[in-house]
Amino acid sequence: MSNSDRTCCGVVEEARMRAHNRRAQKPQPWIVLKFAVGLTLALIGYTSYVYVGIFCKDMIVKNESALGSQTTGIVFLVVFCFLLLMVLWSYFAVVTTSPGYPTDFIEKTELELPEPPPAHGQQPATVSDTRGMSFELMAPAAGLSNDASALSTPVMPPAVPATTKQGKTLHYLGTSTLDEARIVNAPADPESTHVPAIFPRQPSTTPVLAPEYRFCNKDKIVKPPRTHHCRACGTCVLKYDHHCPWVGHCVGAYNHKFFVNFVQWASILSFWMFATILGLNIKSRTRSSAPAINPQHIVLLALTGLFGLFCFLMFLTHVQLIMLNQTTVESLGFRSMQEREQDNLSRMHRWYDCGAKRRTRRRWDKEWGRIGKEGNLWWLGSRRANWESVMGKNVWWWFLPVGRGLEDAVNFPTNPRFDKQGRWRRRREWPSDLR
Ligand SMILES: [Zn+2]
Ligand SMILES: [Zn+2]
Repeated sequence: MSNSDRTCCGVVEEARMRAHNRRAQKPQPWIVLKFAVGLTLALIGYTSYVYVGIFCKDMIVKNESALGSQTTGIVFLVVFCFLLLMVLWSYFAVVTTSPGYPTDFIEKTELELPEPPPAHGQQPATVSDTRGMSFELMAPAAGLSNDASALSTPVMPPAVPATTKQGKTLHYLGTSTLDEARIVNAPADPESTHVPAIFPRQPSTTPVLAPEYRFCNKDKIVKPPRTHHCRACGTCVLKYDHHCPWVGHCVGAYNHKFFVNFVQWASILSFWMFATILGLNIKSRTRSSAPAINPQHIVLLALTGLFGLFCFLMFLTHVQLIMLNQTTVESLGFRSMQEREQDNLSRMHRWYDCGAKRRTRRRWDKEWGRIGKEGNLWWLGSRRANWESVMGKNVWWWFLPVGRGLEDAVNFPTNPRFDKQGRWRRRREWPSDLR
């Protein structure tokens, strides 16, 4: 940092960052971590009371305010009890099963992380464990050669800055390894020139499997692959997916399956309550002697509608991610790579030229394989294999909160399309039977 950078603002900014880091290192107090578990149980308790103690009871004891027959009341009650049992069972499983902590069985080490020299105009490579973003969210860094000897002193060529349509400056590193591709600065106005800008696909070259890149500075351990440090819990978590306040800890290797079972049953229960209450209330409006609408029914509709939608979206997202063998944190990296690529496409082609953009993307896919599939270090080759690695082989286990997936939380088979250090290779470098 030059003297001119050491302004008053710079010092204040530094102090602010230090304070932020100190705060970030402290795990949340127990009561804060578990608060939402109490809230969830209270929510389940209240909605069960309204459904059973008011809605079903009115029908079973044939109250004036009953919205259906006695038989309907009994059937609704039985179905509700079954669904509630499944929700409580899977919730119990996800809350009481630890996500898996590597600190329980991995010895501390004093390995110090070598800091790669920051390239001009580029942020220093964040290889810390801030939610694993470092893997793909870094600016693409071509230039690390493929041999392991280059790992300890990665040499980064000077960055070539380019400007996006929004005026943001992006930095692309030199492409000494990319013989057929040339990077040019995109013109500010694509109409003003006939020379099209050509951008290659540039996957991250961070050797994510190298021990230096897996070191947790807070726990002083070399993290197993896919492990990340959770700031809220203050510890590393095996196959970290996300920190979920609703279950009071992280969703990771050992409880991911139960989490999926929980959101699955919670969305079914919520929709059952929502549909039956709404249905009978609408039906009763057609009768001449319709009872007044119970305000508790309205509250229940709002709660189950919102909670059901939230759980259902969560369920769909996780089913999709499991089939791709991506954790939530890893999927953010792929999304950011896709956005970067979208940015490049809009600089290479005119905005309306969708056909040309599609052709370029197809060319990149032909050269590299698809982002998130062939380009995913953990992809097992098929949706079924990915699914079974988390949810297990037994079909019953996909619905019941028992059993476990096929994968070992510490050693994961890697995609043979990647090199030994975990870097995505071009199709021509893949094993011949996969090309
Ligand atoms: Zn850690
Ligand atoms: Zn956590």
